[in-house]
Amino acid sequence: MSLDVSAWTAPQRGALFVVTGASGTGKTTLVREALANLPGIAWSVSATTRAARKGEVHGEDYLFVSTEAFERKLQKGELLEWAKVYGNYYGTLRKPVEQALARGESILLEIDVQGARQVREAAPEAVLVFVLPPSVESLEARLRGRATDDDATIARRVAEAREQLQGVAEFDYIVVNDVLASAHHRFQAVLVAELQRRHRHPKLVETFAG
Ligand code: 5GP
Repeated sequence: MSLDVSAWTAPQRGALFVVTGASGTGKTTLVREALANLPGIAWSVSATTRAARKGEVHGEDYLFVSTEAFERKLQKGELLEWAKVYGNYYGTLRKPVEQALARGESILLEIDVQGARQVREAAPEAVLVFVLPPSVESLEARLRGRATDDDATIARRVAEAREQLQGVAEFDYIVVNDVLASAHHRFQAVLVAELQRRHRHPKLVETFAG
């Protein structure tokens, strides 16, 4: 029996991570940094019908598709989950997620509460992480601070953010994004710890206890 297990540091069974939080909580910043630091976790590129923002790249940030194309994918059962957010469709393609997991890799979905619930239904073993703002007031101030939005848009965003926050009770982990450096640390600690769980390392268990 070989006892050099250094090749098996990475898990054989990857995790399906779902990260959710109201818009304005800074979850995208946390996710970007984590993925840059943790090469074993892939980013799931969602499909959306919203227009690309400046700097966004098709196929990297999102797959930007027409409403017809999105509805076709929906009808054909190609979406693991989907939601309508701010009047636009968003959804996760089932195939890339299934393929990553089948290869033993981990994948991270940054999606809303409605989507997170659907993933939990379809894949109960998914790991759900909720990013909270330090206070409701700070979140609302951030949403109001976006100079490009009119009053009606801001009011709608605030209402939707409050609704998203209600979903926190259904999540496995909570990370408060107060001090960014500390939040990065806590967020990545969640992901890293999940990847060390015994059931993801059958070769190690087999080697030492088989
Ligand atoms: P944004 O338009 O600002 O990129 O995203 C708006 C909201 O849609 C965010 O809360 C984001 O997490 C959510 N979202 C992005 N992709 C998906 C997806 O594939 N499914 C679901 N359910 N929500 C998504």
